[in-house]
Amino acid sequence: MALEKQVYMFHEGNARMRSILGDKGSYLAEMTNLGLPVPRGFTISSQVCVAYFHDPNYINKIKTQIENALKELEKETNKTYGDNHNPLLLSVRSGASVSMPGMMDTVLNVGLNDHNLNILIKNTNNERFALDTYRRFIQMYSDIVMGIDKELFDDIVSEVKKKNKKNNGNNLHNPESEKELNNGLTSEMLKEIIDCYKKLYKEILGEEFPQDPKIQLYKCIEAVFNSFNRPRTKYFRQLHKISDDIGTAVNIQEMVFGNFNTNSMTGVAVSRDPITGENKITGEYLIEAQGEDVLNGITTPKKLEIMKKEIPNIYKELSNYIKKLENHFKNPQEIEFTVQDGKFYLLQTRATNCSAIADLKITLDMLDEKMISKEEAILRIDPNKISQLLFKSIDRSEKCDIIAKGIPASPGAVSGRIVFNSEDAERNAKAGKKVILVTSELRTDDFHGLIAAEGMLSLRGGKTSHVAVVARGLGKPLVCGVEDLTIDFENKILSYKSKKFYENNLITIDGSLGLIVAGNCNLVEPESNSDLAKLLVMTEELPTIKIRANADTPQMALEALKYGAAGIGLCRTEHFFSSALILELMRARSYEERKKILEKIKPIQKENFKKIFEIMNGLPVVIRLFDPPISKYLPDISLVRSDLAILKNRLKNGEPVRKQLKETEELLNLIQGQLEANPDLGLRGCRIDIKWPEINQTICYALFEAASEVIQEGKTVRPEILIPLVSFVSELKTLKESICSIANKISKKNGVTLPFKVGNIIETPRCALNADEFAQLSDFFSFGTNDLTQMTLGFSRDDTEGKFLTKYLEWGIIKNNPFETIDEEGPGKLILMATEKARTVKPNIELGISGEHGGNPESIDFFYKNGLDYSSCSPYRIPAARIAAAQSYIRNKKK
Ligand code: ADP
Ligand code: MG
Ligand code: MG
Repeated sequence: MALEKQVYMFHEGNARMRSILGDKGSYLAEMTNLGLPVPRGFTISSQVCVAYFHDPNYINKIKTQIENALKELEKETNKTYGDNHNPLLLSVRSGASVSMPGMMDTVLNVGLNDHNLNILIKNTNNERFALDTYRRFIQMYSDIVMGIDKELFDDIVSEVKKKNKKNNGNNLHNPESEKELNNGLTSEMLKEIIDCYKKLYKEILGEEFPQDPKIQLYKCIEAVFNSFNRPRTKYFRQLHKISDDIGTAVNIQEMVFGNFNTNSMTGVAVSRDPITGENKITGEYLIEAQGEDVLNGITTPKKLEIMKKEIPNIYKELSNYIKKLENHFKNPQEIEFTVQDGKFYLLQTRATNCSAIADLKITLDMLDEKMISKEEAILRIDPNKISQLLFKSIDRSEKCDIIAKGIPASPGAVSGRIVFNSEDAERNAKAGKKVILVTSELRTDDFHGLIAAEGMLSLRGGKTSHVAVVARGLGKPLVCGVEDLTIDFENKILSYKSKKFYENNLITIDGSLGLIVAGNCNLVEPESNSDLAKLLVMTEELPTIKIRANADTPQMALEALKYGAAGIGLCRTEHFFSSALILELMRARSYEERKKILEKIKPIQKENFKKIFEIMNGLPVVIRLFDPPISKYLPDISLVRSDLAILKNRLKNGEPVRKQLKETEELLNLIQGQLEANPDLGLRGCRIDIKWPEINQTICYALFEAASEVIQEGKTVRPEILIPLVSFVSELKTLKESICSIANKISKKNGVTLPFKVGNIIETPRCALNADEFAQLSDFFSFGTNDLTQMTLGFSRDDTEGKFLTKYLEWGIIKNNPFETIDEEGPGKLILMATEKARTVKPNIELGISGEHGGNPESIDFFYKNGLDYSSCSPYRIPAARIAAAQSYIRNKKK
């Protein structure tokens, strides 16, 4: 049986073949077909990678296809792979269907050996270049294919440099001319380095560095496949919810040489500024270097502005190509390029990963430029990134101790304690500490450290490095290229001139301004983003699920309005109840005593409700009755026990503490009587309201009195009273009667009509199962998705997340954290069923969501599709939620 076609020349592919050719391969193909200067090559489909993981021998089955493609490439380039007169050198590049910048491997300069090295020297008449290329190849191959630590090779380079400096003597040594040489290495030094590299290779692996170009090639292909499954790549996929089954394609491409001479370079450019969104090409480049030098963040490259001045013809070519690509893909493009001896080559293009601010600005600009439609513009904004717009920055009006300035590479400001490696970052973060990862280079190996840290500071590297791209995607502040600083890793010291900062010292970094500040400093809220406001206005006209806010205080109500909430979906009442107050209530012996205690907080509550009603003026406000477990308000029993032991001792020593001792004993008894094994399933929600009705009577009096006063001021109020945690219709009935009778009393007393609704949360499965019966009594339902998830899955929220949930996610047992994204097969099914049942009884019953899921874009989509009326989330999540809601409407309309 003939095998399916698995290998495609670049000119055979196109951008739509991304799922098999990968992101990089399909775009290389598309660029080739657009007639852009792309070095020739071919792509091995990602299906081969998937097959290879099942059967490593699969590569042999498609060997003929690879060999044929290689022959065609030889024809196209007029070079031959292997030895002969004009050796073809190749790059072997990874590239999955979803771009994972820097996570997988690429090997450059493949095909060189001792023999054709000499041909290359002769052909190019450039010994230093050829030697440098061989050196790079040995190092990359040893590292990526054979797993030898790269640093051992770096050490060799340092050694040779040091030795050379000594031999030349200080007076002969001219740092300027050395700088001009690539890496400061002369041919003689490079020869020595290559010898040492080979020795090292043999010493570690017990065999010579492979001389057969074919063996080199196939080993590289396998290494690229395997890099798909290395830990950091897996972790990246998990974090970005990318499937493990996609595999990576392998691109095999003719090498072009940015390290050829001083008329050569390599770089990265973006068609618009990925940080501010300004319509201006930004980027970085390095003269006489190969791609990895820029991307690895090892050296700090030059800015494109310099290229524009110093090498205008190359800059012009670059800007033509990048604009052409942007127009073609209708997306800001990020390109990787190389110039060999004045000739420009495109090596990659992709839709760039911008900061949220830039995404917004670029999208709105492209809408203005008529490149995209209004709906496309809305669909383009990633709601998950919107929260980045709410990033803080350092308050420049306050005095702060600025240590240094670097390249702002990912926006936002954070303070944290210095750690010097990823392992320390992870360990500290697990212990709840906020840390800033300080490194000398931006290595993708530090990915897990970046995740754990609040932000990152690197002495070297530029903003187009892979780590910077990843940081922007994650919304982690990053400052890099701060060359005035030095690090002593052994002793863990960061220094600036005579100033020293040690591990655990507090610093603040600002990735929008590029600042590093000693200690804590004042951070300011972002200015309101006018682009975001514009986009939100565009979403307003779309008929989709409404977004309300969770807001307990007037302050939060104001925030909610600022972000455009359609009302308050959850106003919690428990923050009036302190531990002291609850203890007092528990000690009280009668209904009257408890009422008296509660009278103290009533006026404060009333004032709070009044202000909220005034602010929300006519928008619905859902007020939830007291909900949390009583036992969570109790003091820590072990502390009380130790107090007791101390008091007993003091009494023994004759101190007059008898009274205190008695009180403490009583307290201990009280706590012991109230302790619960499962507080979330214990005395809480409507159960408290039924046991101690006076608590919620107080709340209701406060809220109805507030409402009637606001009505008398001539404003409109729409309170909706929400009863938590009901399982039995009789619970609802009892409480509803009590609420209505209070409303009646106040209405009569003040002579006003009180418009209000009474509803219940659906958060126990029993309630969901009987939603039709509840609907007969309830005016509205709010799905409490936190508890509903907890109770449907039998996952205790407080215990699960730290104990096994992370592992479940890592091992792929579950796809999403069910407390973040609604589990459609679990609580999701109950919501669906309850919705249907409720609507058979009351077709127009108002249905909403309160819970963490209310602000989660994927969950909002689910709620929208199932016809819920509103979703509620914390005020700062509202913009993202509104965009998600608009996108759900547009996407579903298209279908
Ligand atoms: P990554 O996915 O890590 O960016 P790439 O496959 O894009 O890996 O390779 C990284 C860099 O290596 C490129 O940006 C480019 O500078 C260099 N490179 C790749 N292929 C070639 C080539 N054919 N000629 C010259 N340089 C190359
Ligand atoms: Mg690349
Ligand atoms: Mg709840």
